Amino acid sequence: MKTCKNAEQLWSLVESSSRIVLVGHTNPDGDAIGSLSAMYYFIRQTGKSASLMVPNSFPDFLSCLNPAEEPVLIYRNDTDVCEKLIADADLIICMDMSGPKRIDEMSDAILKNSLTKRILIDHHLNPDVDPFDTVISDTEVSSTCELLLSLILESPVIDGDISRLSLECATSIAAGMLTDTNNFSNSIFPATLERMSLLLRRGVDRDCLYNEIFCSYSASRMKLMGYLLSEKMKIIQDGCVAFMILDKSEKEKYSFRTGDSEGFVNLPLRIKGIKMSALLTEDDEFVKVSLRSKGDLDVNRFAREYCNGGGHRNASGGRLYMNISETAAYFTESVYDYFKKA
Ligand code: 5GP
Ligand code: MN
Repeated sequence: MKTCKNAEQLWSLVESSSRIVLVGHTNPDGDAIGSLSAMYYFIRQTGKSASLMVPNSFPDFLSCLNPAEEPVLIYRNDTDVCEKLIADADLIICMDMSGPKRIDEMSDAILKNSLTKRILIDHHLNPDVDPFDTVISDTEVSSTCELLLSLILESPVIDGDISRLSLECATSIAAGMLTDTNNFSNSIFPATLERMSLLLRRGVDRDCLYNEIFCSYSASRMKLMGYLLSEKMKIIQDGCVAFMILDKSEKEKYSFRTGDSEGFVNLPLRIKGIKMSALLTEDDEFVKVSLRSKGDLDVNRFAREYCNGGGHRNASGGRLYMNISETAAYFTESVYDYFKKA
């Protein structure tokens, strides 16, 4: 069976490879950058190195995770360098993505070389396993970083002893867990807090990490958040669903930078009665959809059926290929249809 939870196969592949490339998804979040840097620090501990890359840029607040000696490459900025590293690689490890679709134009380069071994390490539902030689998939974890910690603990180098883990690696893992759980408010499994506890014992400074990640916003981002909530939030479906639309002119007005809208989609869920929240953001070639829900409401199904996307039950995303002016009506009708069927 291709899908496995056992770490042995992973670490023996790492052991026998010398040109390793680590890949994270488009619009990288804390779990994507955290898993890349954690894996890098761990591989370095075994006496090897690796190259790190993602399709497009990531928000400033994640720079604290970026390894100074091997910074994450941005494929869109450094295409030739990335293409060469990918072509020369003997092992490619994709993390925190359900499949190559999540790396857009980078997937061609990744899939081209059939001699290179490819591993996927991920926590999303329904991963696309075909393009990979080995898939380590577990949906019962908060984040890819949490899954990676469990794998690293099983490695011969660490052998269950957290004190052997470097502090940089532990901190990167904690960052991914912190961001994917929105500071431990969702996606928590019984082992999640035990694993976080191990990281704290290892010396991770949670307060410092929290400040770096959640308290380093620009003033214009804060103003954009206020504007969206007061002027753009619409409540539909008898008070069950909230959505906000952010168009290009508004992005410009508030000097929008990558990552500025991180977390906005969670805010309407604090309203009593709201079970589902969406943020629709105009991008160059599509409208990006972010979806969150409470309880049993399955936004993964909504994302797959109406938004060309997917994700998790309570946190999903996708893309709409239409004009931003058409999205409010499309979204409202889709919600109506979805609730009628449910
Ligand atoms: P976010 O709203 O933070 O961008 O994404 C939340 C989750 O939805 C991500 O962790 C990812 O699992 C999923 N997701 C976001 N965008 C897409 C997409 O375009 N396609 C798929 N399949 N999943 C997505
Ligand atoms: Mn994740």
